[in-house]
Amino acid sequence: MEAIKRTKIADVLASKAFGATVHVKGWVRTRRGGKQVNFIALNDGSTVHNVQIVVDVNTLGEEFLKPVTTGSCIGVNGILVESQGQGQDAEIQAKEIRIYGTADPAAYPLQKKGHSFEFLREIAHLRPRTNTFGAIFRIRHHMAIAIHTFFHDRGFFYFHTPIITASDCEGAGEMFQVVTANDFFGKQASLTVSGQLEGELAAMALGAIYTFGPTFRAENSNTPRHLAEFWMIEPEVAFNEIAENMQLAEDFIKYCIQWALDHCLDDIRFLSQRVDKELIERLDFVLKQQFVRLSYTEGVKILEEAVAKGHTFEYPIFWGADLASEHERYLVENHFKCPVILTDYPKEIKSFYMKQNDDGKTVRAMDVLFPKIGEIIGGSQREEDYTKLSERAREMGVPTKDIWWYLDTRRFGTAPHSGFGLGFERLLLFVTGMANIRDVIPFPRTPNNCEF
Ligand code: ATP
Ligand code: MN
Repeated sequence: MEAIKRTKIADVLASKAFGATVHVKGWVRTRRGGKQVNFIALNDGSTVHNVQIVVDVNTLGEEFLKPVTTGSCIGVNGILVESQGQGQDAEIQAKEIRIYGTADPAAYPLQKKGHSFEFLREIAHLRPRTNTFGAIFRIRHHMAIAIHTFFHDRGFFYFHTPIITASDCEGAGEMFQVVTANDFFGKQASLTVSGQLEGELAAMALGAIYTFGPTFRAENSNTPRHLAEFWMIEPEVAFNEIAENMQLAEDFIKYCIQWALDHCLDDIRFLSQRVDKELIERLDFVLKQQFVRLSYTEGVKILEEAVAKGHTFEYPIFWGADLASEHERYLVENHFKCPVILTDYPKEIKSFYMKQNDDGKTVRAMDVLFPKIGEIIGGSQREEDYTKLSERAREMGVPTKDIWWYLDTRRFGTAPHSGFGLGFERLLLFVTGMANIRDVIPFPRTPNNCEF
């Protein structure tokens, strides 16, 4: 077979150009049939749907077809015809087949259907070839495009913040150290836990920016919602106060969910059949809701009342406590049955840079809480007052000498501004219905887990 341009199976199936000659290349999911006719289910990653290749065994030869087994890679030259069989509209009658690579059936680990997600994590190099992970990684791509489109269309600039940083102001103890033999930077450096501080500098010049990049946290929490390496989206907007920040977060997340339904419906349908029966319902539901806005103080009151009525939480709840995922989910799933934006948290449990309220006790933080996930977004209006900001940094033990450049924005043309961070994988958990964050990133990094 000549070297020919591949047509994506997604496009071939959509074309319905019966009678046309087509050239597809992909990986064999199954081959079945008898002495006369064989049926090959071929997938090339462009869609969750396989195309059925119909092979006349006598023409191509039984011996030739032997290595065409599950996992092998082939190219097919054939005619697209309307399918006689059930389960598909179109199939390809093969004229020529080229075998690119075989896959020894005794060794290929993806033989049977229905491997557990845990097992598939151990073969992360092959799991994109499964229907489920093909769907997830296609959705992941589309979500990235949604994010850029949302912000670009609204006049935000994509701003690149550094991955290596020297300011240990946010996640003391949670940072991965960057070390070299020769003290490369002349000071201690780490992998970033957030691009926010640098993002703020950009917002105070370009007006509205967003970052979208890898983020690292050495937190030893083996939960289904935490990774050591994850991707975060962090918009930062000059002149936005907390109410506008909340609206931006709500609009943004709804836009992404709508985009998924508009661009990935095939894959979402597949996941709702196989992974999470209520997925589409939940996506539609969130789109229709106006998110509840509630203060932390009111939220804690509701949780305390729940405890008084007999509901038990693993972690204690009281004013001043950091909310655990179980508390967040109670508010969302049991009480309001709707996404919640919780604001005005006690200043002790939030970062130094959040704008201080007049009550002297709370700061203008906002967390967006989602069903099944808990916190999906964390953000705030930022303290724009130089004195208040530097005093709060000192009180919280943040070395101000390391962030003189951050404080400078409050000395030179300060302005109210706000922003937030959305965990990309938490969004993907919601959109795919998957239960474990390790299953929405191609190569998850968690404690004791860095194989691929
Ligand atoms: P959590 O309380 O869930 O650990 P956080 O309050 O530490 O999160 P932030 O510092 O507010 O998180 O980060 C902003 C967003 O980044 C979070 O709302 C979440 O969506 C995401 N995120 C934070 N930590 C992780 C992690 N380890 N893995 C994946 N996503 C994360
Ligand atoms: Mn947070």
